[in-house]
Amino acid sequence: MPSKSIVHGVWPASVVKLKNVLANIALFILIVLELRKRSPALKELKGKSYMLAFDIEAYLQNRGIEYITEGKNVTAGWLEINCPFCGDDPSFHMGVSPERWISCWRCGTKGSVLKYIMFVEDCSYGKAKKIAMEFVDETLSHLKIEDRDEIYRPSKVVLPESKKLLDDHYNYLENRGFDAKEIERKYKLTATGKCRGIDSKYSYRILVPVLVNRLPVSFTALSHTSSRQRYLHCEDSRAVIPMKSLFYNIDSVRDTALIVEGVTDVWRMGDGCIAAMGEVFTIKQVLFLVRRKVLRCFVMFDAEYNAQKRAKSLAEMLSGFIKHVEIYELEIGDPGELSEEEAKKIRQDIRI
Ligand SMILES: [Zn+2]
Repeated sequence: MPSKSIVHGVWPASVVKLKNVLANIALFILIVLELRKRSPALKELKGKSYMLAFDIEAYLQNRGIEYITEGKNVTAGWLEINCPFCGDDPSFHMGVSPERWISCWRCGTKGSVLKYIMFVEDCSYGKAKKIAMEFVDETLSHLKIEDRDEIYRPSKVVLPESKKLLDDHYNYLENRGFDAKEIERKYKLTATGKCRGIDSKYSYRILVPVLVNRLPVSFTALSHTSSRQRYLHCEDSRAVIPMKSLFYNIDSVRDTALIVEGVTDVWRMGDGCIAAMGEVFTIKQVLFLVRRKVLRCFVMFDAEYNAQKRAKSLAEMLSGFIKHVEIYELEIGDPGELSEEEAKKIRQDIRI
């Protein structure tokens, strides 16, 4: 039987590692951006978050520009470069702050690091920004994607052509211990036949629509034969909301959410249970959940070591925004493999 462990309170008490602090800061920035969508301060904030994500060391190394990060005149977190505004002065007069502001001790030049890029690359502000974007830190790259999403996102998702489930599909679901007819009805499952063109990779699979506010925003195609890749998610460019920016089954959540990894885990655990759709989770998923005003959250990932590590990291991140966060640890396997009896016990225990 599964055991519960580790109760996470509200940070800062539980936020022990630097990476969690940074993740919470990033999330906070995103939330502020979201809350101020129509405020005049938006533009300024957006600029700042881009700057935070700009990996200046990567940029300088790429351009073969010398810099120093330690020494008697270097403040921790800052780096020093030669000031191009002073001419050929080789003595690292210009400091770059952790927020990516430049300032020269000698000639007094101040401003955003974009000013520096514009000068050394002899380019426009727009071009400088583009260059900076090429060196956005991967761990904060959602800041970049966020904007791209808003521009190019389709308003509806076109699902591959599909029909009613066939006997093979029912058998597959029954063999996994599900009430196939019930799962089919509840989760609006259908099956693809031979798909054409760009959809051909989704052929002969169980089609699982992903709904948010009762509208399909994405889908995944599940293979009922073991010889093929189990899940094929809808391409990000095609989805209304990309898979790694949402949780599957979110509409069933009231004030308590049980977070699991995959759709079959959700089918086992039922209402209030949501899936991260894969092993890793993203900041955008955390933000998606925080917006839902969930009061209690339980994380129940697969029993294996790496999944548990990720569960812990997700729980710690959520604990900055959700009052009650707990990890529910399984001794073996994944939630999808639990018996109905065990699933029921857990549901009663966490009251979903
Ligand atoms: Zn200078």
